[in-house]
Amino acid sequence: MSDRYDIAIVGTGPAGLEAAINAKIRNKNIIVFGNKDLSPKLVKAAKVNNFLGFYNISGVDLKNQFANHIAAMGIGIINEKINNIYAMGEYFALMVNEKVYEAKTIILATGIEYTKPLKGEEEYLGKGVGYCATCDAPLYKGKTVVIIGYNKESIEETNYVNELSTKTYYIPMYRGEYNLNKGVEIINGRPLEIVGEDVVTKLILDKGEIITDGIFMLRDSVSPSQLVPGIEIEEGHIKVDRDMKTNIEGCYAAGDCTGKPYQYMKSAGEGLVAAASAVSYLDRSHENK
Ligand code: FAD
Repeated sequence: MSDRYDIAIVGTGPAGLEAAINAKIRNKNIIVFGNKDLSPKLVKAAKVNNFLGFYNISGVDLKNQFANHIAAMGIGIINEKINNIYAMGEYFALMVNEKVYEAKTIILATGIEYTKPLKGEEEYLGKGVGYCATCDAPLYKGKTVVIIGYNKESIEETNYVNELSTKTYYIPMYRGEYNLNKGVEIINGRPLEIVGEDVVTKLILDKGEIITDGIFMLRDSVSPSQLVPGIEIEEGHIKVDRDMKTNIEGCYAAGDCTGKPYQYMKSAGEGLVAAASAVSYLDRSHENK
């Protein structure tokens, strides 16, 4: 069993990192999940003019400033995607494929997907549509699978699925190098609709269609209700109060995932508040013991 952390932070954009530095300042034992590029949205920004103290900075330079800041404070990032988080009463269980991490509190700073779900995606979720290829790959042993990949991390998951499936199609939704196994067929097209009967049967694209048993949508973030069963959602965002508290005891959220405006400073500010709230919650629980 892994150590039980005081605070697990999910997401390494401005919300998650601001939460991390404040939790660290408050001497909490933290674990931070995300990726080495910190935030795909940060890296994509050509120029940022509204981040206080960094006029006219590029997104990449701002990312490097963030990276230097957390490195100077000795904060590391676990380069793993959390698939599910379960509230277990006294603690939370964070699942990464076959691994489980435990934390007394969590801060969700997962950002938001700008892309809308595909037609049929929500209807067939769990009936052939999935968001975690490595978790569900064994279900598709000897079958046909389509992976719609929105980032380069989806490559590794696709190669893993390909080891089990009979046929794997990969539809890249971004430009880059696709370091895929030989058996994976790349399809260049725009997915339009997922069709099925009781379960998924095919994917319709702008040019043609693919008959398939399963479809994985591998985006940067999954919807919060998929990630944390039972979390309250309001108009597509995690419902929080002014302390960044969600409806689940010990669970806080910050950044784009809590609502508009989708901006760096708003995200960072909420990350700070979420960390402060998690720290008071931990201190209160400690006093009551
Ligand atoms: P994000 O920055 O989106 O970070 C979320 C992180 O969580 C990501 O690293 C993601 O991979 C990770 N994650 C998600 N789910 C999981 C999981 N299950 N397990 C582990 N990790 C996970 N805002 C401004 O204020 N000024 C600007 O000039 C500006 N320009 C922009 C330009 C572009 C092209 C874009 C796309 C956005 C721009 N924004 C700008 C908006 C800004 O990028 C967002 O508001 C901000 O990044 C949100 O921060 P966040 O921490 O909430 O989420």
